[in-house]
Amino acid sequence: MNRPRTHLIEIDADILPAGNGAAFDAIDAAAGALDRGDVLVIRTHPSDGTKGRAVRRASKVLRALRQHMVHNWSLPRSSRVELDAESRGVPVAPFRSRRFLLPHQDGGHCSFLTPSRLDCAGLSPEERVYSSTVYWRRPSHKMYQGFLVTEPGNTPGSTFYYNALAMLDDAFVHQQGRPPANIEELAGFALQNLRRSRELQSLHGSRYLTLGAFLGAREPAHHVSPSGPRAESEFWPAQYLSLPNLAALAEECPCGNCDGPGVRLVCHTCLETLGLSWPQVRARYEATIVAARHDLVIANNLTLFHAADSDELRTLVPMCIVTSEAAGHEYERWLARQWRNHTPIDETAVAA
Ligand SMILES: [Zn+2]
Repeated sequence: MNRPRTHLIEIDADILPAGNGAAFDAIDAAAGALDRGDVLVIRTHPSDGTKGRAVRRASKVLRALRQHMVHNWSLPRSSRVELDAESRGVPVAPFRSRRFLLPHQDGGHCSFLTPSRLDCAGLSPEERVYSSTVYWRRPSHKMYQGFLVTEPGNTPGSTFYYNALAMLDDAFVHQQGRPPANIEELAGFALQNLRRSRELQSLHGSRYLTLGAFLGAREPAHHVSPSGPRAESEFWPAQYLSLPNLAALAEECPCGNCDGPGVRLVCHTCLETLGLSWPQVRARYEATIVAARHDLVIANNLTLFHAADSDELRTLVPMCIVTSEAAGHEYERWLARQWRNHTPIDETAVAA
């Protein structure tokens, strides 16, 4: 349960849409796995090796997958497939040829995990937007984040996934000394953590909800991310000035082995919120994907954090399932199901 499951699914894009048959079975398996919170690598066929054809195949598969999830897994009808421009290599820190991207959620200015209003009536849908002025690149709420690998780089990158709800549950136990009684109590903890981070926003200045903020960190320094957000990056001078404890946290970490100011802060964050160092968090929660050229990788962006180790030459085309408005009965119902499917709390899953 702690570690997300991963699957490689092969799909022949040329026979989609198909009522029945191999392509239907593959789409059906992929949709069910995504609903359970698993991570997918989708390898599409047929391939002539060109990027343009790979993009068309992957977007066709993703549209079929979205439609199948709407019909069978209560994905809100307002969801849509959104493609972004291809990345132009990987921005690395000075003197580096790779980067380690720390755990984050894509478009995390608004698409971080909040509870469903069915479990947490006090939450207002506006609280699902952390910043409406500064964000990378689009304002949409990303429900499923995906990417097509167009160039793996000299050494293919790894993408790492972590179950946000398993971590939240463990953070509750670490901080309260007992497990949450039910989903509603865990949902209340998530909302309290989000509101604390909003209250501290004038101090930390972040536009994105960090892992530490989500897990209930009290120390304001855990509400900032390094640039990137890369393990090896420095913080901005203004962040050091406004957060007096940040310099000491970025200088030395609890395990003594983390290489870089950004990851040393995360190591402290993990110790404060979970009682574990960053290497211990990786050992307990991490699942790893290594994708080949023209693979489509996709996973739930709300119930999972992801990190990545990438070569500077790697390029991607982001392909996501998004919604413009994270609100309404279909959305709340879908979100409540995600909480039940992905938390370790033993409650009966809500039927699709
Ligand atoms: Zn460390």
